[in-house]
Amino acid sequence: MFVARDAKGHLVNALEDELNRQTYTCLACGGGLRLRKGKVVRSHFAHKSLKDCSYYFENESPEHLGNKEALYHWAKKDSTVALEFPIAEIQQIADILVNEKLALEVQCSPLPQKMLRARSQGYRSLGYQVLWLLGTKLWLKDRLTNLQRDFLYFSQNLGFYVWEIDQKKQVLRLKYLLHQDLRARLHYQVKEFPFGKGKLLDILRSPYQKQGIATLTVKQDPSICYYIRQQLYYQNPYWMNKQAQAYQQGQNILNYELKDWYPQIRPIEKADFCQIDQNLSAYYKEFLAFYHKHPQNNKQNLYPPAFYHQYFSKNMVK
Ligand SMILES: [Zn+2]
Repeated sequence: MFVARDAKGHLVNALEDELNRQTYTCLACGGGLRLRKGKVVRSHFAHKSLKDCSYYFENESPEHLGNKEALYHWAKKDSTVALEFPIAEIQQIADILVNEKLALEVQCSPLPQKMLRARSQGYRSLGYQVLWLLGTKLWLKDRLTNLQRDFLYFSQNLGFYVWEIDQKKQVLRLKYLLHQDLRARLHYQVKEFPFGKGKLLDILRSPYQKQGIATLTVKQDPSICYYIRQQLYYQNPYWMNKQAQAYQQGQNILNYELKDWYPQIRPIEKADFCQIDQNLSAYYKEFLAFYHKHPQNNKQNLYPPAFYHQYFSKNMVK
């Protein structure tokens, strides 16, 4: 951490103040801190013992500290910023609190889903917005993990999206128009924002701003029927469940042909999302309706939710 109380009880910030060796304590728990003056990472504090601190459950990694430092300087240029802001009601320290409202949380290591949910809920219950920015270990790979799903956000202009933070490359990365194919592989677009360039708050709000229509083109998998048959043969629970649902409607997915699986690329499946409280049912409906209305093809053009919605509102008027 960078913020602490010195021996006289004054707040000090290791990113701003010249620090000497003396007794420092944790703002939250009052526990003793060690001042670490490293060569690689800039000076920071670490608990001598984390046993009695209910705010910090581990000392932060160099990646976490580096990202926090970069965000702090970036945000400070245009906003009121509190570094490591303790919120007693929820026993939490916001890595960076912007304009007293938006909490930025750099998350570099996996955490229990339950804890993420409690923390996110805690912020919202007090009227804060929280944005989780994911470090290396949590970056999206080929498929979405359950934990990653809980970091997804949603906007009409960009669909499902997630924020990643890349300390090595010094960029904030937006992955958007997130979709999954029938093999559960992810498809998305990527935008990168170099640290310190532009207004951080504008960038973080950009998914909600008016913009040109984002698109993504993905090929359909011609061997998908074979793949699904195989999954059923090996009793993959996901596909067994899909088959059970089909049976209830008097169908059998083993009989489906390639065209029956169109569109193969779909929005992230319905779930009890953690960061999203919008009702997405119109989006899911309009998404499928759009592709059913259009000739099937060996590729699929994907659009943001606003596009499908506009398409159907226009056609309703006619
Ligand atoms: Zn503490």
